[in-house]
Amino acid sequence: MILLNPRHLNRPYRDERSRAIMRATVGFFERKGKQKLKEDDRERVWYSDFLDFQRDEKLFATLLTPTDYGDQDCRWDTYRNCEFNEILAFYGLHYWYTWQVSILGLGPIWMSANEALKQRAAGLLRDGAVFAFGLSERAHGADIYSTEMSLTPQPDGTYRANGEKYYIGNGNIAPMVSTFGKMADTGDYAFFVADYRHRGYELVSNVVNTQSYVADFVLRDYPVTEADILSRGREAWNTALNTVNVGKYNLGWASIGICTHAFYEAIRHAASRRLYGMHVTDMAHVKRMFVDAYARLVAMKLFALRASDYQRVASPDDRRYLLYNPVVKMKVTTQGEEVINLLWDVIAAKGFERDMYFEMAARDIRALPKLEGTVHVNIALIVKFMANYFFNPAPYPEVPVVDDPVNDDFLFRQGAARGLGEIRFHDYNPILARYDLPNVRLFREQIATFKAFLARATPVGPQTEDVDFLLALGEIFTLVVYGQLVVEAAGLYGVDDDLVDQIFDVLVRDVSKFALQLYSKPASTAEQMEYCLKMIRRPAEDTGRCDRVWREVHGLKDAYEMNP
Ligand SMILES: Cc1cc2nc3c(=O)[nH]c(=O)nc-3n(C[C@H](O)[C@H](O)[C@H](O)COP(=O)(O)OP(=O)(O)OC[C@H]3O[C@@H](n4cnc5c(N)ncnc54)[C@H](O)[C@@H]3O)c2cc1C
Repeated sequence: MILLNPRHLNRPYRDERSRAIMRATVGFFERKGKQKLKEDDRERVWYSDFLDFQRDEKLFATLLTPTDYGDQDCRWDTYRNCEFNEILAFYGLHYWYTWQVSILGLGPIWMSANEALKQRAAGLLRDGAVFAFGLSERAHGADIYSTEMSLTPQPDGTYRANGEKYYIGNGNIAPMVSTFGKMADTGDYAFFVADYRHRGYELVSNVVNTQSYVADFVLRDYPVTEADILSRGREAWNTALNTVNVGKYNLGWASIGICTHAFYEAIRHAASRRLYGMHVTDMAHVKRMFVDAYARLVAMKLFALRASDYQRVASPDDRRYLLYNPVVKMKVTTQGEEVINLLWDVIAAKGFERDMYFEMAARDIRALPKLEGTVHVNIALIVKFMANYFFNPAPYPEVPVVDDPVNDDFLFRQGAARGLGEIRFHDYNPILARYDLPNVRLFREQIATFKAFLARATPVGPQTEDVDFLLALGEIFTLVVYGQLVVEAAGLYGVDDDLVDQIFDVLVRDVSKFALQLYSKPASTAEQMEYCLKMIRRPAEDTGRCDRVWREVHGLKDAYEMNP
């Protein structure tokens, strides 16, 4: 079974320390128990217990310190960080968030040439510190060109930083807040570190109403020296984007963790509830919703696992991860919302109860598509890859499961954040052809129609500027990429044919849904609308297959329940 089950942690690791970290983290939450977990959430209790635990166990230090800066087991290893992400969100998004913004905060530090600051960060990690990423500003949202935080040069060669940052996680406790600003004289970008304990750092408030601290802070004549500067100019800009490239990947794992815990609760509840003399899970529509939710959740995990491999083999000559990571970000997280919607429709009132994890899941699952670039921002990015993906494939060596216990060095020297349209991809056709299953075949036919749409009814003129139209196009393209990596991972992780076909039953319906949306866009031409209609297909039905997948789903009814 591919889903995380804290009772049976079975993910293979090549070293004992990685296994021990996952076991210890599960142990911490299970000892804490569901009642206390929920109470802390309800009362918005600051999670100092978790921060103390991670400090004592040196968790962030081991997982987030590159090999050259840490002890023996330290490395930034996306393979193992995936499961840590998943476990934290499985128990609560807030615990995940403090880890996530530490990752973001450390990005500009590990990418920097400032050795002294890197050594300082390594020392702080050893002491159990968390980190923060000060990019966003209240007035500017996704528009980081408009950053107002400024560094004004002083006669003695130092600088004074002035400005406000908004939505900054860990901004209340991070001794190194990687802060993005502009030089007041030249307008060049710069990343520098600020310390929340300095008197020039005014912590204004927590802008959210949760256990997390998402800070509004103001720097007032905050003194900055050369020693505090991480990067400048084009490099600082690249650092901002490259950090988000890495960080956004984790959002998918948060969705997977949340959905997995919610799934166990939902199937357990529904399978033991009797109405009209039968189990709720005997109702046909309930079975369908569970099978759909399960197929979607397994696909989310397969895609995210596979994207890790591409991130880990990335190099200046292989930047395919720059497509796959935004897909994790926008597709996996929005699929998470669909999974929760399906489960909630089944468990109905139970999903509101105060002692259910589900009640948190229903709230928190909404956050992931919106953080670190909205769905729109990511689709707008994804469409840049479309032409090369379909019309200019390139040969690459086969990428295996990359579970080597090594540091992911390239993530911290990704280079210039441009040239996306030049990145080439391996051909999706032979990959999808690996599965001769009815719904995979249908999916391939839909894609062939989409490719014909792009080749023969190519969007031109104002359509290429119409973001609303492009987003609809981007949704279909995203599904192609999604299907391809799901198939790759299904082979590597031994997912059986029934489940693969069931996943593609879902994907065929999703292509049809987005084809209808594209059809309905005011900008679509008559010829394009014809292609859209051809893309609308009915999935291949097979009651035997559905029943077999349903039995697998139903078999999870007693698989996991959190300690009370
Ligand atoms: C709980 C929480 C924690 C956060 N933590 C941090 C943190 O630690 N550090 C940090 O720096 N930031 C953080 N953020 C900020 C977060 O990254 C921003 O919310 C996000 O970048 C989007 O900005 P916005 O929500 O202001 O939306 P806006 O940028 O105001 O977007 C408005 C609308 O315009 C659309 N839009 C904007 N740009 C484009 C585009 N290029 N193409 C297509 N559509 C576009 C959006 O999709 C959206 O629909 C956090 C936010 C929250 C809510």
